[in-house]
Amino acid sequence: MLLTFWASSNIKGTYRRYSQIQSSLGMTGAQVAQKILQQMNIRDVRVERVAGELTDHYDPGAKVVRLSDGIYNSSSLAAAAVAAHECGHVLQDKQGYSFMNLRASLVPAANIGGQISPLLIMAGLFLGQLGQIFIFIGIALFLGVIAFHLVTLPVELDASSRALKLINQLGILQGDENKGARAVLNAAAWTYVATALYALLQLAQYLILLTSRNR
Ligand SMILES: [Zn+2]
Repeated sequence: MLLTFWASSNIKGTYRRYSQIQSSLGMTGAQVAQKILQQMNIRDVRVERVAGELTDHYDPGAKVVRLSDGIYNSSSLAAAAVAAHECGHVLQDKQGYSFMNLRASLVPAANIGGQISPLLIMAGLFLGQLGQIFIFIGIALFLGVIAFHLVTLPVELDASSRALKLINQLGILQGDENKGARAVLNAAAWTYVATALYALLQLAQYLILLTSRNR
């Protein structure tokens, strides 16, 4: 829980810090994304603006990179990093990166597990002998959540490493500016690590519940 708390305050602080530092070239997030797509010869992916803070994502179904208000028109180091990261997902999609496909196929299982597992386990605690079966099914479904978070890690880390390479190679950021982009993407990576660890901790808690009832 502490790690989750630290990771989320760390990303907010790092994001805020590098949102205030403008890049020397002054390209906005939207321009960064367009430049990368153009250089990579990708013509069927659009760049759009989406409401909210840190709501940036790539939608592989619609072939759209959506950049949030704070990224789209900003020429900060954070904006360049986030825009390039989303383009990293576009490249994964283009190259049929296997973890990305696996992650997409795990979304339904993760949604079902995330919603139903806690209910089954709660119900199981109140149902005598039969409760054991509920807890067991709850844990089995929760494995979908675990798998999703574990597969998310390589997908996100790979998108960030592609982003940092592109930003550097295409000269979008200069010299030390690259360190700022790296700091933002590293902070974001920690939030995924924390989320995955938190899910593993929940699994441990469920398993303890199951075994302690067995005695
Ligand atoms: Zn991502």
